[in-house]
Amino acid sequence: MNIVLLGAPGTGKGTQAQFISERLGLPIISPGDILRQEMKNNTTLGKKAEKYVKSGALVPDEIIIDMIKERVVDRTGSKGIILDGFPRNLSQAGALEQMLGSMDKVIDRAIYFYAPEQKIIERLSGRRVCRNCGETYHVVYNYPKSEGVCDKCSGELYQRDDDKPEIIRQRLETYNSDTAPIIDYYSKKDYYLQISADDDIDSIKVKITEALGD
Ligand code: AMP
Repeated sequence: MNIVLLGAPGTGKGTQAQFISERLGLPIISPGDILRQEMKNNTTLGKKAEKYVKSGALVPDEIIIDMIKERVVDRTGSKGIILDGFPRNLSQAGALEQMLGSMDKVIDRAIYFYAPEQKIIERLSGRRVCRNCGETYHVVYNYPKSEGVCDKCSGELYQRDDDKPEIIRQRLETYNSDTAPIIDYYSKKDYYLQISADDDIDSIKVKITEALGD
C-alpha cells in the first residue's frame, strides 16, 4: 500500500507514520528527516538545503524531487511506502505520480490530517526531539520519564531550530501558500480521506486503522 500523509507541520504526521509503519511493515520516507540528517553530516545536499530549512521555506523542487525519487524507487518494493512530508506542492504531486507510474504503482491512500492553527502552534512550540533516534516528545502532552532524556535510547532531547516561534510562523505561511492547494487536488481522488488531528493520539490511531481497512 502506498500511503501519502498530508497536513500542516505539527498535525502529527510523523507520529502516525511511525504507527502505520509498525502496523503494516512499510518503510517511511520523510524528506524533513533526510534533510536534517544531511545537514547534521554536513553533506553537499545538507549545505544546499540548510538556508531553506532554517528559514521555514521549501527546499527547491529540483533538489527534493531527485532526493525522493531515488528512495521511492529503491524502497517501494512489493509492500509499498509511507510518504511523510512529500509532496508539498503541486509540481511534487505530479512528480510523485510519475515516479510511481514508472513502476506501475499508484497512490492507495492520501490521508489529510487537519487541526486548528492555534493547536498546531502549541504542538510545534512544545515539541522536543531526540538527537540520537529522532523520537518526538512534547513538553505538556507527551513528556519523557526523565526531563531532557529520550525514553527509548537515553539520547539528548532538543528543540528544532525551526520549531522556534518566528520560523513556525514562516512554515505555516509556506504551508498555506504552497502546500494547502494540494489538499484540494487530492480531495477529488477516491483514495483521499481526512482525519481530525485535534484529538488524542489513540483515537487518531483507531481512525487510521479503519481508514486502512484492516
Ligand atoms: P518537516 O520535518 O516535514 O517539517 O520538514 C522540515 C523542513 O524540510 C521544511 O520546513 C522544508 O524546509 C524542508 N522540506 C521537507 N519536506 C519538503 C518538501 N517536500 N519540499 C521542500 N522542502 C521540504
